[in-house]
Amino acid sequence: MANSECTFITIKPDGVPRGLIGDVIKSFEHRGFHLVALKFMQASENLPKEHYLKDCPFYADLVTYMHSGPVVAMIWEGLNVVKAGRVMLRETNPVDSKPGTIRGDFCIQVGRNIIHSSDSVESVENEIGLWSLPEELVNYKSSAQDWILE
Ligand code: UDP
Ligand code: MG
Repeated sequence: MANSECTFITIKPDGVPRGLIGDVIKSFEHRGFHLVALKFMQASENLPKEHYLKDCPFYADLVTYMHSGPVVAMIWEGLNVVKAGRVMLRETNPVDSKPGTIRGDFCIQVGRNIIHSSDSVESVENEIGLWSLPEELVNYKSSAQDWILE
């Protein structure tokens, strides 16, 4: 069932002190996606080390950034949510992201781009396992879904 697709979203350590938790959650809620797991946590150094590919030039800075403060790790469910999530975030570098997108509205520099979203259905399972989200999963029915999907 396409509706059972999930994606992994993280509000990064810059998004938390900047007061953007509510705005990010609101974007996904208002779009019609269904929150199934949420964890406010401090990532270990090891977590971003395993999450990101080691061969990028900014790897060390990225790992430091990603465990420099608490993050909000979430799983959102819904029709085509992986692709839709990426479109809502828009480009990795916020300068290329239009206003109205999350990165286009809330950040200006690539190294402080406030939010992560899985880039493919295949990567979701790995990422939620790495961040120990499956144990936070809550299975419930939202009556709103009857008005969001035909
Ligand atoms: N990043 C960076 N400098 C760059 C490109 C990426 O600091 O030139 C960081 C940024 O935080 C980005 C993350 O590395 O979100 C992962 O990069 P990726 O290409 O996977 O971008 P994303 O999937 O987050 O859009
Ligand atoms: Mg990526």
